[in-house]
Amino acid sequence: MTVIRPLPPELINQIAAGEVIERPSSVVKELVENSLDAGATRIEVEIEAGGARLIRVRDDGDGIHADELPLAVASHATSKIGSFDDLEHVASMGFRGEALASVSSVARFALTSRVRDQDAAFRIEVDGGGLQAARPAQHPQGTSVEVRDLFYNVPARKKFMRAERTEFAHIDDLLKSLALARSSVEFRLSHNGKPVRIWKAACDEQAQLVRVAEVLGEEFPAQSLRIDHAAAGLHLSGWVGLPTASRAQADAQYFYVNGRLVRDRIVAHAVRQAYADVLFHGRHAAFVLYLELDPAGVDVNVHPAKHEVRFREQRLVHDFLFRTLHEALAQTRAGQVASHVQ
Ligand code: ADP
Ligand code: MG
Repeated sequence: MTVIRPLPPELINQIAAGEVIERPSSVVKELVENSLDAGATRIEVEIEAGGARLIRVRDDGDGIHADELPLAVASHATSKIGSFDDLEHVASMGFRGEALASVSSVARFALTSRVRDQDAAFRIEVDGGGLQAARPAQHPQGTSVEVRDLFYNVPARKKFMRAERTEFAHIDDLLKSLALARSSVEFRLSHNGKPVRIWKAACDEQAQLVRVAEVLGEEFPAQSLRIDHAAAGLHLSGWVGLPTASRAQADAQYFYVNGRLVRDRIVAHAVRQAYADVLFHGRHAAFVLYLELDPAGVDVNVHPAKHEVRFREQRLVHDFLFRTLHEALAQTRAGQVASHVQ
């Protein structure tokens, strides 16, 4: 006879963690997205041993009230949505209220925060599922999250962690994609006490392009076209690489929908089609593109990690992207042909 039993909450969190917390960089993604949602202007990421020993994310955002600290690490608790209607219009990076609960169930975890206009900070620690009462701590306005000994209690996951260098490279790549998404925010990344990246806040297009160049290469700005086009409630901006900036690998493709990096079939197809006439077979375009649209026009609640989105009007989005990019690239093609003939 089978016996059906409810799962203990701790185990529920660990199962949920399995969906989103694949490796150290997934933790960094969740924590930095929380900092962005909290309106941070400065985000500092400290990594030790590729994230296996320590991941610390410190921000100067809104902070969390002392009495809400336990809720922040409770599952299905969020300040970002409260109704189905909110879910349809969600503009924040997070909304599932699961990340901190998941992370704190698979690591030794501490959360320290001070809200604006309060002169005390508070800290809670979660270790093996046990939550300690909040106690006073030292911290400027904002929040720090410390994640130590990731997967110490999930041996199966720990086994899959790669070499320190590999895990750090994933974190670096992830941070690049977030830094490109939010150029108005300053990001710092260090590994084993050594500064690795400092991206100062970029307030204008020129400064933004400097950040893009740091990620896509110094030669990229000179080999790219500025895109800025709006129609039918859609706005596409960013930079697309000329055929001369094409690569053997599709490793320089950043497409953001309302500030969120996505991998989408519709988008990928539209971009590929737009480049079809100008790229050699087997070459891949480099681009950083930002699509903005009414959050109600796109469903981000498709997958827990939120890489996938679903557009309400797929055809419209596809054609808008294709046309905008195709026209921009066609002009360069004409120009190149002319200069070639001379
Ligand atoms: P979600 O982001 O989906 O709401 P999380 O588990 O990531 O869920 O976070 C739970 C809650 O904790 C958030 O809704 C937010 O209120 C609070 N929180 C988490 N990180 C921060 C932060 N860095 N600054 C301010 N509040 C935070
Ligand atoms: Mg979150």
